[in-house]
Amino acid sequence: MDVFSDVPLQRLNTFALKVRAACLVEYDSSAELEEIDFKVLPQPVKHIGGGSNLLFTGDFPGTLLHSRIRFIKPVEMQEYVLVKVGSGVLWDDLCAWAADHGLWGVENLSLIPGEVGAAAVQNIGAYGAEAADVIESVEVYEPATKAFSVIPAADCAYGYRTSRFKEQWKGKYIVTSVNIKLSKEYSPRTEYGNVRSALAERYGELEMDNLTPSRVRETVIAIRRTKLPDPKEVGSAGSFFRNPIVSKEAYRHVEEVAAREAIGDVPHYNMGDQIKIPAAWLIEKCGWKGKTLGNAGVYPKQALVIINATGEATPAEILALEKAIVESVRNKFAITLTPEVEHI
Ligand SMILES: Cc1cc2nc3c(=O)[nH]c(=O)nc-3n(C[C@H](O)[C@H](O)[C@H](O)COP(=O)(O)OP(=O)(O)OC[C@H]3O[C@@H](n4cnc5c(N)ncnc54)[C@H](O)[C@@H]3O)c2cc1C
Repeated sequence: MDVFSDVPLQRLNTFALKVRAACLVEYDSSAELEEIDFKVLPQPVKHIGGGSNLLFTGDFPGTLLHSRIRFIKPVEMQEYVLVKVGSGVLWDDLCAWAADHGLWGVENLSLIPGEVGAAAVQNIGAYGAEAADVIESVEVYEPATKAFSVIPAADCAYGYRTSRFKEQWKGKYIVTSVNIKLSKEYSPRTEYGNVRSALAERYGELEMDNLTPSRVRETVIAIRRTKLPDPKEVGSAGSFFRNPIVSKEAYRHVEEVAAREAIGDVPHYNMGDQIKIPAAWLIEKCGWKGKTLGNAGVYPKQALVIINATGEATPAEILALEKAIVESVRNKFAITLTPEVEHI
């Protein structure tokens, strides 16, 4: 275990903001967690992963905890392999491991930044798959009671990019490892977006019944690279805003604005009584795509992503851009965007 004081956080936030934390504790095993006296640490105490869904709004006055529990332990069953994975393993390292072993389940989730512990908190998702599809249970430590337990996935209330860990259990548990069920059976998921056509283009139509987890993984990686900034090159936290889910009346207002201003049809998904509108479309139609405000900007290829455009953005500049986007979307469409990225 290492304890650092007044530590720079550039390597622990994908926005690459030059912020610092009063204290950072990096631990290597669950047993080490038991040794930590949380009460004597600078407060507040917050567990982080790779900082790829976080916006530090300034220097962090308390203690950041970070897992370096890094192991991948498979147990072979008849039809599947149950893999126990340490919370500090990079999610994409798990995806690469699964592909190398010919196991299905996480290939569509390739290249999502962050660590395995956070994936179980966030219920990460992409290309028609989500972490909840493969999580069997989550192993946790509860600092308040010093107890370890195993929580079955069914009790985690997994939903769209959410879980009990993000809501009523927020801050209660530390995820130490995740038990993930990977399938040996041929089970590619190609129906979402352009995955199928990209696979056919890459490997040929005749190969479409002869896919492998590696082939799907490589295709998903190639698609993602054309759409999203690589955190090693451009700082961001991925999708910054949630897609708003609005009433039919609010949706009709957006349609009226779109007709009046001749800005095209409003993309939308019906969700019972409500309607989901892509936040990226609303932001783009307000003219933000590719625009910068100081050192912060909106990614030119995807309006949902706020970036550290020059590498020198400050938290205040990211927040100013967020505020400006929210205000202009509200003024034009009467919809208030909310951030997906957690502000700390
Ligand atoms: C370029 C880019 C693309 C992205 N694309 C996607 C995508 O396609 N799909 C998607 O779902 N997300 C995407 N994201 C968001 C991000 O990758 C996920 O939210 C990821 O799970 C965050 O992991 P992290 O380790 O960085 O966690 P952090 O951002 O550090 O933390 C996220 C949350 O998890 C909690 N947490 C972290 N570790 C633990 C632990 N061990 N125990 C308890 N709580 C913990 C933190 O307190 C925090 O609340 C993208 C981000 C970027 C930068």
